[in-house]
Amino acid sequence: MAAPLTLLAARYVYPVAARAITDGAVAVEGERILAVGSATDLAARYPNARRVDLGMTALLPAAINAHTHLELTALRGAIAEELPMAEWIIALMEQRRALGEDALRASAAKGARQTLASGVAAIGEIATYGHAIAPVIESGLRGVIYLEALSGDPAQADATLERAKAQLARWQAEYRGAPVRFGLSLHAPYTVSAPLFERGAAWCRAEGVPLSIHAAESPAETLWLRDRSGPIRDTLYASRGLPVDLEPAPGVSPIRHLATCGALGAETLLAHGVQVDADDLALLHATRTALAHCPRSNTRLLNGRLPWAAYRAADVRLALGTDSLASAPSLSLWEEAAAALALHTAAGEPPDPAELLRLATLGGADALGLLDDLGSLEPGKLARFASAPLDQLGQFDAASRATPDAALRAVMSGRVRIGAVRL
Ligand SMILES: [Zn+2]
Repeated sequence: MAAPLTLLAARYVYPVAARAITDGAVAVEGERILAVGSATDLAARYPNARRVDLGMTALLPAAINAHTHLELTALRGAIAEELPMAEWIIALMEQRRALGEDALRASAAKGARQTLASGVAAIGEIATYGHAIAPVIESGLRGVIYLEALSGDPAQADATLERAKAQLARWQAEYRGAPVRFGLSLHAPYTVSAPLFERGAAWCRAEGVPLSIHAAESPAETLWLRDRSGPIRDTLYASRGLPVDLEPAPGVSPIRHLATCGALGAETLLAHGVQVDADDLALLHATRTALAHCPRSNTRLLNGRLPWAAYRAADVRLALGTDSLASAPSLSLWEEAAAALALHTAAGEPPDPAELLRLATLGGADALGLLDDLGSLEPGKLARFASAPLDQLGQFDAASRATPDAALRAVMSGRVRIGAVRL
């Protein structure tokens, strides 16, 4: 028996991989998209389909949140505002430790629900403990779950990597057949030694394991790599009583350091990437490294603004991420995109709304290796949608002659609340 057919119609349909359609529709068969086109054409082609008409709405592919820590959802508002990076990390570690296993699992389940409800279909999830895995899989979210490993001691590189490999093998066995992939997160250049980056990245490349790294996030990280000075040394390491001389400072930028360690590449997804210069951007482009831009987290942690225009000019593969609720106000990637639009526009580098839509959808799917299933409205891809109601906005009424571009600008500027579509 053929799977049931549904025709989902909307005033504006944004396939992302193709031009926007006014009075468009998407034909859905079972879990997958069968066709995308004008509502009139598809109604004629599939006369027996169940019809769902969203009316004066923008229909979008579900977004991809390329950088999350769902275990930390319970920490919303738990850490004081205006704490710089090093002090925020110390507060985060204390708060996270205070949550037990059950609380972390419940926190991740709540995060998964919020994520799905906001019209997001997949995530790049950093798993510090692994309590998010079951809730994420049960929720129906797709994506990559990156096991977090760190050690600043070069003598511990092999042992740390072996432990991570064993843990990943256990997860892969335990969750065999689940529609998520497992990857490795080597936390950051101020918590991971050069040998751990070298060997971890080489192993990921040899085994086809996705790799994620927090990189070039704060000015403090840049100082630490330059000469072991600044708040990473004076605040973070000092508070933990950690030795600061386990290996010499590389004396280069975080991105250059990762390149030297062989940690950049098409299967690497960096998060943040705020503290970069032209050479760094050229390296990211040449190695086809992807980057998750997390503007609200960067602003909250006083890390500055990612140089948007320079990234676009360098043609770096970009996605968007919310980061955790410990540093972002919501898990809605659409709200993250609206924040990016506002932030870069205020700085005199206004993004094209269509470009931001691409980052939020296809860019994320590309960064997480999900292009076969998600990121655009195309035949064969999963039927995962987000919708933005336009009828609350004055200029979009039944007689509206607004263009799809004008509608998209309203949608991406955060003037309407975007959510998931339930078929
Ligand atoms: Zn993060």
